[in-house]
Amino acid sequence: MEAKTGEGGIVITKLDDLLNWARLTSLFPMGFGLACCAIEMMGAYASGYDMDRFGIIPRASPRQSDVMIVAGTVTFKMADRIRRLYEQMPEPRYVISMGSCSNCGGPYWEHGYHVVKGVDRIIPVDVYVPGCPPRPEALIGGFLQLQEIIRKESIRAPRAVQQIMAKRAQ
Ligand code: SF4
Repeated sequence: MEAKTGEGGIVITKLDDLLNWARLTSLFPMGFGLACCAIEMMGAYASGYDMDRFGIIPRASPRQSDVMIVAGTVTFKMADRIRRLYEQMPEPRYVISMGSCSNCGGPYWEHGYHVVKGVDRIIPVDVYVPGCPPRPEALIGGFLQLQEIIRKESIRAPRAVQQIMAKRAQ
């Protein structure tokens, strides 16, 4: 693909690179939190860390979002709702699991009868951010990892198809 620059030159790039660059620099996470980790997530959006500078802007609806940050404790009661919200997000969609609770049950691992031991038991997770709670820097690190995943994608192998193939291979 070619594009003319203002000075008469041209820029040449692959369509994949152009689309991936546009997508990874304009991520729209769904704005919701489940427990204490969500406070650090809000801190990451605030002026001190300012995730807007990476093009990461929270949205209030799953239908306008392409990233779900699962920030906090996933109870069995919430599991259904999380799954439903995930299904309402348009493809391609991504999930960041933020904090020990969401990664594996965290402090509720042993005796938390009400807690799902990892959100990846109900939806696919792309990036795990460790910590209890993770600092905003760690969440930003998670987004940088996600950007690297998106950078390697191709329209020849859409993400939804890849996920179906991976599921069949299990
Ligand atoms: Fe709270 Fe720690 Fe669980 Fe985060 S991982 S929701 S900080 S208990």
